[in-house]
Amino acid sequence: MSEARVAFISFHASPLAAPGEGKAGGMNVYVRQLARSLGNIGIPVDVFTREYRPHAGQPDVTGGKNTGPSPDGSNRNSPNMIEAISGNVRVIHLPAGEPDAPMHSLYGVLPDFLEEMKAFTLGNDLTYRAVHSHYWLSGWLGRAFSRWLDIPHTITFHTLSRIKMQSRAGENEPVERQEVEEQLIASADRIIAFSPHERDSMARLYGADVKRIQLAPCGVDLGTFRPLDREESRQRLGLNGDKVLLYVGRIESLKGVELLVRTAAHLDTCEPVRVLVVGDDNGQDGEVERLRELAGTLQVDDFIDFVGRVAQEELPVYYSAADVCVVPSFYESFGLAALESMACGTPVVASRVGGLPTVVQHGSTGYLKSWRCPEAFANSLEMLISSKSLQHSMGVAARRRAEDLSWDKVAERIAGVYDALVEERSASRST
Ligand code: UDP
Repeated sequence: MSEARVAFISFHASPLAAPGEGKAGGMNVYVRQLARSLGNIGIPVDVFTREYRPHAGQPDVTGGKNTGPSPDGSNRNSPNMIEAISGNVRVIHLPAGEPDAPMHSLYGVLPDFLEEMKAFTLGNDLTYRAVHSHYWLSGWLGRAFSRWLDIPHTITFHTLSRIKMQSRAGENEPVERQEVEEQLIASADRIIAFSPHERDSMARLYGADVKRIQLAPCGVDLGTFRPLDREESRQRLGLNGDKVLLYVGRIESLKGVELLVRTAAHLDTCEPVRVLVVGDDNGQDGEVERLRELAGTLQVDDFIDFVGRVAQEELPVYYSAADVCVVPSFYESFGLAALESMACGTPVVASRVGGLPTVVQHGSTGYLKSWRCPEAFANSLEMLISSKSLQHSMGVAARRRAEDLSWDKVAERIAGVYDALVEERSASRST
């Protein structure tokens, strides 16, 4: 087995889960795309993830396909627990807790998962050169696993509890999460920040040493997300000549879709408008139902469509059909949907929060709104809707900006982080 192998730990976010459904979103996409692009530049990656139970209609990518434990009582080398993403990138599903265990119970099963990772590594005679963990739960594992192997640990948090808590009154996160994040920020060899905002917040809220923080934005698959003919795209979606505003993402309150519904009620345009809301809540939150009711109360339900989840391969049709993509979040650590829209040549109107100013260039590829109020959003949307030339020039600039952010470029940067850490370690060993 190659010594160049990197261990990704994405404990609760499988790279094979369908984004846009339940809790699966940008983190799942990031892990899959970064792993795949690292594989493309010759870095083999094993992604360790927890067996989970898929939603109906998704491929069964879990231990559920396993026929059960092997005679020695373990299911460690069942062929179904390993799935290839590409030639040298594979996903290793390991058991820890019940496959559909609730998120809040997962901290308690981390030690079991760690033992499974160690057993898998030893059982398969694997050697890793670096560990890269995703989110605090995986970070807990990454720290222990990298120490056990005596190799460097890189972490991408994706979201941090204290930043999230600052984004909106009433957001609360467990104390144990904050404590583990603090320990990880103090101990990780390298921390990936998606934006200057995230880096500065880590320093301010967690006392992070900025020298160990590496800025590396997320990427976009420029082959999949590309401008398609607008009229054809609209026809494919059965849309008429109405102007189209689009939201894409998980539907949960922090995403602020309520603001889009309220903005729809404020729009004052000569031409009729249709609002498409793509994505799903996790069923239990009832957020979609709440938004539907709000749309009814505000009497905008006849021009807002709650489309549900759309497979990523189909999303370019939606982005290309849209005049503007709206990202009304209270907080985004990055905002992949904004970047995907830009890659499809569609300008973005977004809240000026978190990583969104890294993605959207105000006045060039769209507009950033400092006030999360319907009037402010409606104002920018009306401007874009009413000017074909503004929309066109911003769309061209948006695609150009997205071209700087391919996953391949991101992978090169992250590979450079691993190389530097491995070198630092061998230098410190030889002194
Ligand atoms: N997504 C999808 N289908 C949907 C809704 C969303 O494939 O119906 C994907 C979308 O393409 C994007 C991700 O889910 O890649 C959402 O990422 P983003 O960073 O916008 O939000 P996050 O989930 O990280 O909060």
